[in-house]
Amino acid sequence: MRRLFVAGNWKMNLLGASAKQLAEGGAAAVPADESAIDALVCPPYPYLRAVGGAVDGSGVQLGAQDVYHEPEGAFTGEVSADMLVDVGCGWVILGHSERRHVIGETDELINKKVAAALKAGLKVMLCVGELLSDREANQTEAVVDAQLAGSLEGVSDADMAQVAVAYEPVWAIGTGVTASKEQAESAHAHVRNWLAGRYNSEVAEATRILYGGSVKPDNAAELMSQPNIDGVLVGGASLKTDLFVPIIEAARQVATS
Ligand code: PEP
Repeated sequence: MRRLFVAGNWKMNLLGASAKQLAEGGAAAVPADESAIDALVCPPYPYLRAVGGAVDGSGVQLGAQDVYHEPEGAFTGEVSADMLVDVGCGWVILGHSERRHVIGETDELINKKVAAALKAGLKVMLCVGELLSDREANQTEAVVDAQLAGSLEGVSDADMAQVAVAYEPVWAIGTGVTASKEQAESAHAHVRNWLAGRYNSEVAEATRILYGGSVKPDNAAELMSQPNIDGVLVGGASLKTDLFVPIIEAARQVATS
């Protein structure tokens, strides 16, 4: 049984005080003994410690938005996987569309980061998703397949227990346009099928596949009710307690209904 997962990607937003306040709001909504769902927040690097302190003792986990693949050395501005573990991160988002399309990360680089994160003991939220032009050209599945294959090169069956996949159509991220439940479910079923082919049916059944792209309180439950949608990765709506907490509550309601 896959446990529903609600993750917040704060991107490059907030400052120390607002980050702490938002974390406290999330922590209040998810007790340490939360039995129905998993919750995660991924603040910017400078606020990892403070946010980690604010969610400590709650059911909210801490993650980072990226990592560098080298373990240490002359890589100005970069942050290693061991550093993330050292400040209390359990998770790292990798391959987010903004890293792919704004910063220019390739599947090859993302794959190195996945390997480094897993080696350090971090769990990986691997993002994949097509551009609008890909969808219009009927290339959604081909693009997602290539991203999965490239990013998961060398990742073993056993490693996959530490990986969740986030399907995030780029045209739905930050646009207010959400994929329909049919579009999302179809892509998720495709990802699960890909996992079954690349790994096996056990890995495919156990891997959580989250949807991301303009998730809001009013569409979260419908999305998470789909058989292959195991949670949501939330950007904009994770920046406001009065939006993020209802999404957590929607997950709990779906999980317990
Ligand atoms: C994201 O950044 O992963 C995301 C899904 O953003 P938004 O919810 O704002 O579309």
